[in-house]
Amino acid sequence: MTIKTDIAIIGSGPGGYVAALRAAQLGASCTLIEKDRLGGVCLNWGCIPTKALLYSAEVIESAHTASDFGINIGDVVVDWDGVQAHKNSVVKKLTGGVEVLLKKAGVNILYGAASFIEPTILQVEGESGTETVEARDVIIATGSRNASIPIPGLDGPGVVDSTGALALEALPNSICIIGAGAIGLEFASLFNDFGVKVTVVEMMPRIAPLMDEAISRGLDRALSGKGIDLHTNTRVSRVEHDGKQCIITMTKDGEEQKVSTDIVLSAIGRAANIENIGLENLGIKADRKGIQVDNRMRTAVPHVYAIGDVAKDGPMLAHVASHQGIVAVEDAMGLTAHMAYNAVPSCIYTSPEVASVGLTEEEARNAGYEVVTGTFRLGANGKALAMGVSDGFVKVVSDAKNKAILGVHIVGPHASDVILEGTLSLDMEVTLGEMRHVIHPHPALGEALAEAMLDAEGISLHSVSRKRK
Ligand code: FAD
Repeated sequence: MTIKTDIAIIGSGPGGYVAALRAAQLGASCTLIEKDRLGGVCLNWGCIPTKALLYSAEVIESAHTASDFGINIGDVVVDWDGVQAHKNSVVKKLTGGVEVLLKKAGVNILYGAASFIEPTILQVEGESGTETVEARDVIIATGSRNASIPIPGLDGPGVVDSTGALALEALPNSICIIGAGAIGLEFASLFNDFGVKVTVVEMMPRIAPLMDEAISRGLDRALSGKGIDLHTNTRVSRVEHDGKQCIITMTKDGEEQKVSTDIVLSAIGRAANIENIGLENLGIKADRKGIQVDNRMRTAVPHVYAIGDVAKDGPMLAHVASHQGIVAVEDAMGLTAHMAYNAVPSCIYTSPEVASVGLTEEEARNAGYEVVTGTFRLGANGKALAMGVSDGFVKVVSDAKNKAILGVHIVGPHASDVILEGTLSLDMEVTLGEMRHVIHPHPALGEALAEAMLDAEGISLHSVSRKRK
């Protein structure tokens, strides 16, 4: 059978399904093709299940520290099956909700693996046979998968990737996590809260290497302080299994060290899903980082777009994928839309959380700005103190010449919520002077952001201003 449609979308992750909803909203007929589960990595094996587990971990942490707040609880017992049930129910609710939204919008959902025959003709292999989809425009939203690197033993027993770590049948006693990016650190944080002995190995000089250096050092202090064993500047050279445990060999400054753990989690990054979709039939070039696109998400072939993790542009984040999906659809429908990446928030949902938007101090200096920074410690914020938090801070990076806000970086509780104000200030291109007029609720964590902005102007009210260089 041949299905004729205005827009065909391959992949139903946060890129593909949001694009489908926008296409339907704009009056296009749309066929959304998915070979596995609706919602893609984000809803099934990424953002959502990890946050559900992290919330359970936060509850344990609160239970353990309850007596600090005058509440005495008896023994805290982890029911891992219950934790998994909570995670699975959140995933089920959200994926079910997405299906309802798509059906109500009139999107045609087609299950099967799609590949290109021609730029606007797809072949879809499903359980009930092969179908052909003829579209005016096609959006590739096939996402990414866990990357692998040639470390001997990394494909052996006892080693899992993030998908495997989400579905463990029982909690291990110990885990070694290779990679201290967002995914590795979130698992480190949650397993540590569940009482697992956690070792993290990172070959870069610091954890969360893409974050502002001060923030990544702050996170390092917080996680080390909670008992996580962090090894930076360290390379894993092999993983062996002795029948009971994994033995990880790692090297730092030429010196070899071995660690034994129950399991190993490989969290070394993501590779774009560019294989088996017939890109060669189109002449589209791509590598493990993805497909080259312009700022309207167009590939080199007319009427073919690529969005989300499979697109080379922009960070591999769910909200970026969704925004790119909207841009691609709007362009296909003749509207003016383009992607800009100057105000994309990026968060790590560890305890404490980390959030960042815009340039780090180093990036701003390298870009030639005359940089001035402002900080505010959460230890002087009323809401944070009421929550028992004395660590963590907000850092603002700005242009000394015109007071433009270039970046906002936070380590502390609810950083992923507080960052929104920084995101807005960058997106709206608001200056420090303009932000001074914004009234913040009291007490609120967001007051720390306001104070950091005042500090960047040298007029902090609630901390002793630093002497300007
Ligand atoms: P995906 O979500 O990867 O979806 C692609 C879909 O395409 C899949 O369903 C796949 O089955 C389908 N597909 C592939 N090939 C075909 C084909 N040939 N035919 C039909 N269907 C096909 N990002 C955040 O912003 N915040 C977070 O907190 C966060 N946490 C994460 C935690 C983990 C453990 C992981 C792994 C990722 C996390 N991410 C997070 C990243 C986020 O999940 C991705 O950026 C996002 O899912 C990308 O969306 P996408 O639509 O491009 O692709």
